[in-house]
Amino acid sequence: MADRRDFLKASLLGASALALAGKAGADTAGSGKPAGGARVVSTWDFGVAANQAAWAVLARGGHALDAVEAGAMVPEADLKNHSVGRAGYPDRDGHVTLDASIMDADGSCGAVAALEHIAHPIQVARRVMERTPHVLLVGEGALQFALEQGFPREELLTPESEQAWKEWLKTAHYQPSANSEVRDYGKTGLPGGKDNHDTIGMLAIDASGRLAGACTTSGMAWKMRGRVGDSPIIGAGLYVDGEVGAATSTGVGEEVIRNAGSFLVVELMRQGRSPQEACHEAVMRIVKKRPGASKDLQVGFLAMNRYGEVGAFAIQPGFSYAVCDARKQDGLLPAKSVF
Ligand code: ASP
Repeated sequence: MADRRDFLKASLLGASALALAGKAGADTAGSGKPAGGARVVSTWDFGVAANQAAWAVLARGGHALDAVEAGAMVPEADLKNHSVGRAGYPDRDGHVTLDASIMDADGSCGAVAALEHIAHPIQVARRVMERTPHVLLVGEGALQFALEQGFPREELLTPESEQAWKEWLKTAHYQPSANSEVRDYGKTGLPGGKDNHDTIGMLAIDASGRLAGACTTSGMAWKMRGRVGDSPIIGAGLYVDGEVGAATSTGVGEEVIRNAGSFLVVELMRQGRSPQEACHEAVMRIVKKRPGASKDLQVGFLAMNRYGEVGAFAIQPGFSYAVCDARKQDGLLPAKSVF
């Protein structure tokens, strides 16, 4: 039995190694550096501006981890962005609660969930990673930690967000229950409909070939108090493995968590899929389990392998991702989709 297990393990390792070795041509003469040099990618059109901040770090030879942190802070600070950071729409009770995660190539990671009153949750996530023995801090405890670390306590609900919330309250018909059917999301305007999502997920490879990723969001607008999506869950909204690649997601976080989405994408790349193929397959897992939901449900994955190759795939059309490298700093590409 042990022999058989060892044999299977050796075969699987061999298959992974072969799959990755097949891509070795993309490497720069075996230097371990990405063939295309440094590159950063991120979700949605606001990723273009975020990428530029990340690129400023990468272009001077900086670390991918510093790049994704700097990049994620751009939409967090943008008062016009109502899905990330300071101006994010609140939950159904009017509280702005933020989720974020950050991960390095060696598996180091940190995250915060349901964090209130702190404008840059990605920075707190990094502190969790670097200054605590833990991975994830939530709610009051996350706030306490952030304040102890010197982050200022701020009112995050902007007048525009408050106005939008009050408008929503007038017509609100979101009565979540344990039995809520996912397929009702889009039709009834429940969170997760194709117009009620956004998150920045950012992946970078630096000039030395180091990968890192970050993900930050205010989660779904008008969510139940205490609801946490995929973004701060390592393996769901973000996953990085320096030997293989990195992935991040956007859309209905519940579906991503149920399928350990970003981990799945990275594992599919480990088995030899291109970033594009891996994102496609991970999306199809969700679609297969939710056939009735797929027309109204959005989930998108974005991935980068350790050679800097990029791919993306979504359930619905409309998911875009921004790419920035030495050749082009403001690229925005539409992701392929199921429908
Ligand atoms: N994935 C995020 C969440 O579920 C939301 C989004 O991407 O729009 O919280």
